[in-house]
Amino acid sequence: MSKVQATLGIAVLLAGVILMTSIPDLYLIALAVGLSVFLFGMAMAIKPQFFVSYLMKTTENNVLLSFDDGPDPVNTPLVLDILKKHDATAMFFLIGKKIQGNEALIRRMHAEGHLLGSHSYSHDPMIGLWGRKKTTLDISAGHEVLQTVVPEAGNWYRPPFGVTNPTIAFALRKCGLQAVGWTVRSYDTVKKDPEKLLENLKLKIKGSDIVLLHDTQPLTVSILEPLIGELKRRNLTTKAELN
Ligand SMILES: [Zn+2]
Repeated sequence: MSKVQATLGIAVLLAGVILMTSIPDLYLIALAVGLSVFLFGMAMAIKPQFFVSYLMKTTENNVLLSFDDGPDPVNTPLVLDILKKHDATAMFFLIGKKIQGNEALIRRMHAEGHLLGSHSYSHDPMIGLWGRKKTTLDISAGHEVLQTVVPEAGNWYRPPFGVTNPTIAFALRKCGLQAVGWTVRSYDTVKKDPEKLLENLKLKIKGSDIVLLHDTQPLTVSILEPLIGELKRRNLTTKAELN
């Protein structure tokens, strides 16, 4: 029995108990709100692995830098240049609709030893509210457009906004994709100060972590070189490896 089935089973059982004992409506409403809040929390959190199971770490004494939301014609080449300069490899989760027109960049990523995964086709903020058919079409289209450019790309998927639910879990099973999570979130899309971003990452990162970054951000490009330098000083490698 999956966690979802177990939760639904408990919810049905509780609803039965409530109906049988005629608990006042207020308690019923509170219970429904509580359950909704819990399920929403589980849809947004990746660590409990409630709806899907994620790959959550890289090899020992290594840090996997993962970049979402690319390819970006301006910033991605700069990220690739820095990684190449430091003999580092990373993982890129690509948005399907951005792949078209940036095929050479995707081939460069693969040629330089980086791992490639899909980040849906549309990256639509409403993806968590869609039905099975629409969700599966979007996730499979994102994967297929990547495979058309690099047939050797892996069957990896990073959920946009970290959102999962039973529908997304269904689509991943249908498409044969494995979700890849992260252990350190940089918040590089909302932070403004490069010093603070770098300091925060230095504090949080340890061996076998997967770091969530975005190769769409000039801010991220600006801290990448000092970050890799710091990891090197700590004898941590930066290689595209999953564990
Ligand atoms: Zn994203």
